[in-house]
Amino acid sequence: MSARTAEPERRRLYVVAAWVPRRETIVVGSLGAVTFARGWHAYVGSARRGRDARVARHRRAGKPLRWHADYLFSRYPPGHAWLFDTRLSECELAARLDGEVVPRFGSSDCRCGGHLVRLPRLAALRAALARAAAADEPDLERRHR
Ligand SMILES: [Zn+2]
Repeated sequence: MSARTAEPERRRLYVVAAWVPRRETIVVGSLGAVTFARGWHAYVGSARRGRDARVARHRRAGKPLRWHADYLFSRYPPGHAWLFDTRLSECELAARLDGEVVPRFGSSDCRCGGHLVRLPRLAALRAALARAAAADEPDLERRHR
């Protein structure tokens, strides 16, 4: 068996981020009223297939309100998106973004704190994403020797 087939399965995650310019309360479906503070709001999701279409949907303003993310992103469409093929779960990636988690947002199907994280600056979000990507490859050095 080659080393390649022994590698753990990678998840197809994405992160989309929208700027919320001022404090605002929005009714988010089953979550009810959620107050979003000013800042970048990064949402971590996963899509086994059709990930590009999913990201494009998040970035569209007019759409049926189906997921928690739709309620925020219909109003503030994400200006940034990143794709991650990773061993991390979406919960783990969200936790590594090092920001203020919006409780239970997007996490109806799991037990984590939430999949939406607020950060004050885009640079902080970019740095957190880079750290998460680097931490995902702890054995990279060994494998490349
Ligand atoms: Zn989760």
